Amino acid sequence: MQATTQTPNESSHNHLSKPNKKLSALKAKQARRKYHGTSAPDPSLSISLDVFVSFTEFVKSSTRIFALIGAGVSVASGMPTFRGEDRLWRAHEPSDLADSDVFDKDPTKVWWFFSHRMMIAQNARPNKGHMTLARLAEGKEGFFAVNQNVDGLLERAGFPGKQMAKCHGSLFSVKCSNATCGYVKDATYPVCPVLTLPTEVDISDPAVPLPTVERKDLPHCPECNHLLRPDVVLFGEAIPKPVLESIWNFQKQGPIDLMLVVGTSCVVLPASMYVQTARNSGARVAMFNIEESGEEIGHIQEGDWFLKGDAAVMVSEMLKGVVGQVRA
Ligand SMILES: [Zn+2]
Repeated sequence: MQATTQTPNESSHNHLSKPNKKLSALKAKQARRKYHGTSAPDPSLSISLDVFVSFTEFVKSSTRIFALIGAGVSVASGMPTFRGEDRLWRAHEPSDLADSDVFDKDPTKVWWFFSHRMMIAQNARPNKGHMTLARLAEGKEGFFAVNQNVDGLLERAGFPGKQMAKCHGSLFSVKCSNATCGYVKDATYPVCPVLTLPTEVDISDPAVPLPTVERKDLPHCPECNHLLRPDVVLFGEAIPKPVLESIWNFQKQGPIDLMLVVGTSCVVLPASMYVQTARNSGARVAMFNIEESGEEIGHIQEGDWFLKGDAAVMVSEMLKGVVGQVRA
């Protein structure tokens, strides 16, 4: 685990001046009254009303919001996380399959792996976490998200494309394997008829033989005739420069009011770097994640919100005072 050294950032609390105590108590009371009833957090989620109210008010007053969105938000849609028991595909680690060297040697196997993932993602539906984040983005032009997920669910929920950096690419796009060609195209499952998964067996089971596909029958680039490949960032590959530039552009445009970390740990790189950059520009941080480790706690600072639980549930619950209750 890569941890960063974080120093308390005084500027992150500058906007919380020291108001008259009586006035702030009165305001808090009024706010609490406003959020009682339908807008109060679900009692089963153990979110305190004070936390809910402080977060709601802060989001409403924020104009520049930066989010890092990870696999945890798609768990409620049935997407595999490739962790724990979900981890292996035909007894392979995903890192052994989503690898450009492996694609060069055995493109058919890599295409089956990604076709399987495409099929699952295409059959999945955006959940209320995706919908809530999309509604927030529609309502706030200054909301920009780095989306680590390749499942397309946030896009299908209506999250505006210009406010999102797909840092790991998308399952629903193919590109030419010839780096100098530049051909890219939207795709749906199956990418071509020969890559249709058999319906009666599960090809992620190593006991099931993979259907044979000749290299010549795999999808080829219409411009240079090299093989097409999934437009995802494979292990060992860098995040494409235009994607990084869109992130830097947002960061350069001004101070960030609020950083949301949804469905991913904020301890590992690059999450820790994004969080630190946001803190340095004065942001308060809200984390929504099922996991909570000692290290995670170490990264929480005064003024942060940490919501432990299913990320889709927690983010939709905590933002319903801003975007309303969404239905998935
Ligand atoms: Zn090409």
